[in-house]
Amino acid sequence: MSNKGYFGEYGGRYVAEVLRRPLEELEAVFESALTDSRFCDEIEAFARDYSGRPTPLLFAKNATREAGGADIFVKLEGLANTGAHKINNAAGQALLAGRMGKSRIIAETGAGQHGVATAAACARLGLECVVYMGEEDIRRQRPNVYWMELFGAEVRPVTSGTRTLKDAVNAALRDWAASWENTHYLLGSALGPAPFPDMVREFQAVIGRETRDQLTAARPAASEPDALVACVGGGSNAIGFFEPWLVTDDAGRPLLVGAEAGGRGSDPGDNAVRMAGAGCLGVVQGYRSRFLTDADGQVLPTHSISAGLDYAGIGPQLAHLGETGRIRFVAVSDRSALEALQFFARTEGLIFAMESAHGAAAALDVARELGSGRTVVVNMSGRGDKDIFISAAALDGAAWRAFLRSESEREEPA
Ligand SMILES: *Cc1c(COP(=O)(O)O)cnc(C)c1O
Repeated sequence: MSNKGYFGEYGGRYVAEVLRRPLEELEAVFESALTDSRFCDEIEAFARDYSGRPTPLLFAKNATREAGGADIFVKLEGLANTGAHKINNAAGQALLAGRMGKSRIIAETGAGQHGVATAAACARLGLECVVYMGEEDIRRQRPNVYWMELFGAEVRPVTSGTRTLKDAVNAALRDWAASWENTHYLLGSALGPAPFPDMVREFQAVIGRETRDQLTAARPAASEPDALVACVGGGSNAIGFFEPWLVTDDAGRPLLVGAEAGGRGSDPGDNAVRMAGAGCLGVVQGYRSRFLTDADGQVLPTHSISAGLDYAGIGPQLAHLGETGRIRFVAVSDRSALEALQFFARTEGLIFAMESAHGAAAALDVARELGSGRTVVVNMSGRGDKDIFISAAALDGAAWRAFLRSESEREEPA
């Protein structure tokens, strides 16, 4: 847990006065829910019956043999219902909203993955759902808009600023300031003002706890893993995956590795490398952390082949653990992520989400570095079906474009 919302010098609650009450209320309810066995039972039932937990842990024996190094295990978090880890947080917060007697949920979304998970949890739990999404993102991410609306959510276009994620966050905060008496703001990653970083980590820690139990069951005689690897956008899948090993930190083992989006190069605007690169201390959207900013402190545009890693900030706890050296951050390029995607598809029949493929690429490097007889676990935070428009365009070029043309012609009215 944070120290009053802080992890070292990172974190905090830098918000307008009107948002103090709802954040304090949320913190109190969250803390009491954590120790309430009825709430824990509700979470567990949702995870089992709806999300399909526990998700499997797979020994990737073919990949291990071909890579030539440590044993590689893959946590198949992408097999959770709706296709990624995001449902863990969405379900936890939606159940918490029910406990607070709030019947309306608002959320921000960029690429739409968090919006889809939130809309799904709200459909399941019978809650009204409004998702703020930049107009530009709505245009680029039609498939996820389609799913959200099918789940009964209202997708509200945001037309201010660059019409992308940060503008959607601002719109959601504005809504919340006026509506919090009946509305919960369901934030999508382990960042934002306290208590969100602690809360989102706790709801995602199920990934790490399951992994530890499954690893023990798979290798009863062995001790802890030697390394854990996860991709890092805002940081929710990574911090939840690492969580059981953060408290038992003895002399930096196991090695914890966070893979950031190296994008298409190291120039400003070409990547989203905040820890292993040019991130600066700043306070943005309610919390203090490391951000990609220009000389005037303005947040810079970022690039990644994966929509979920294309973000200028990082959760405060990860920023702190990177600074203390507990977590090693590495930059993985668009190209390396695509190669890792192909490698695990060919050797194991797995489709990593483009985000998770950054973790996969880093895991292959770590496995070779550690050598045989050691164990590396990588979190496949999501599955890659959603990325077909990007991966097929990159890997299947002309045939894929021909298919898209024939599909659009098929849909034209005669
Ligand atoms: C959103 C997303 C991420 C990045 O978010 P984190 O909060 O860093 O986990 C990673 N993987 C997948 C599949 C996602 O959908």
